[in-house]
Amino acid sequence: SVKTSSKGSYRFFDSEYSENVLARHRLEAELRHALEQDQFVVFYQPRVEMAGGTTSSMEALVRWMHPTRGLIEPNEFIPLAEETGLIVKLGWQVMEKVCSQVAFWSAQGRQTVPVSVNVSARQFQESDVAAIVQDCLQRHAIDPSLIEIELTESSMLDDKSNVVETLQHIQKMGVKLLVDDFGTGYSSLSQLQRLDFDVIKVDRAFTAELDNSREGTALITAIITMAHALGIRVVAEGVESLEQVATLRALHCDEVQGFLISRPLPAAEIQPMLGRWLLPVT
Ligand code: C2E
Ligand code: MG
Ligand code: MG
Ligand code: MG
Repeated sequence: SVKTSSKGSYRFFDSEYSENVLARHRLEAELRHALEQDQFVVFYQPRVEMAGGTTSSMEALVRWMHPTRGLIEPNEFIPLAEETGLIVKLGWQVMEKVCSQVAFWSAQGRQTVPVSVNVSARQFQESDVAAIVQDCLQRHAIDPSLIEIELTESSMLDDKSNVVETLQHIQKMGVKLLVDDFGTGYSSLSQLQRLDFDVIKVDRAFTAELDNSREGTALITAIITMAHALGIRVVAEGVESLEQVATLRALHCDEVQGFLISRPLPAAEIQPMLGRWLLPVT
């Protein structure tokens, strides 16, 4: 069906638009299917203590083991999972897998360090986070100190869902709370203090700024000083160079995480790294 050229540009726009909508619908359907078919796997990335040079904790990072497309990284499906609400189911699947992995390691008498799990703002809004975490810990008979929760500043903004009480409840259970991507959101000093966070993870954009500007260094310095004044430990995310490690050490940053030390790895590959000195010598 040939149309006049004046309409051509509209048709182009329309078809591109509907292709986009179609692609999103297809991805959403695939995500639902993937949740049912158990296609998600958890990789682990160590967080290394500046002082001791060994892994203090590992972050659980989900990957999609797609039957035909292979391994898919979170940036390709987490945003849509967040939008559609599928992140709630996915997030709890990840928690389940992590608890079962930690229980397995413990049962084998392997060295265990805590694992931090990313919990989305939507999980806080749409589910009873404290109850689910407690249930997961009990079913797998694992010590609460072996699970940590990473939440973003946006999770704390929602007053309706009693986030403060939920977080306090979780802490009373012995599960540590970490603020993820710190500096990109809107948490206030008073929130940090009131909620008694254990750790903040400074967003990797700030780490990258260390290379470029005096202001970047000044910002991280200020964050570290502030956090330490409140008794909160500081992790720098996205550490990729020896120079960054040296600067962060000089600034008394407590822990580092990043590709320089290790990429996120499957469970079997991460285990042998525990207890080993992982910090490059600067
Ligand atoms: P995040 O929680 O801030 O996790 C850190 C991200 O930075 C990871 O990306 C990690 O692979 C990446 N990264 C670590 N070191 C470096 C580095 O040196 N350089 C660079 N450029 N990147 C580094 P990943 O695994 O692709 O995950 C991206 C985001 O997806 C996570 O950011 C988190 O927000 C989300 N995500 C991943 N797994 C889960 C999950 O199980 N639940 C939820 N709700 N979100 C998740
Ligand atoms: Mg995280
Ligand atoms: Mg982060
Ligand atoms: Mg992030």
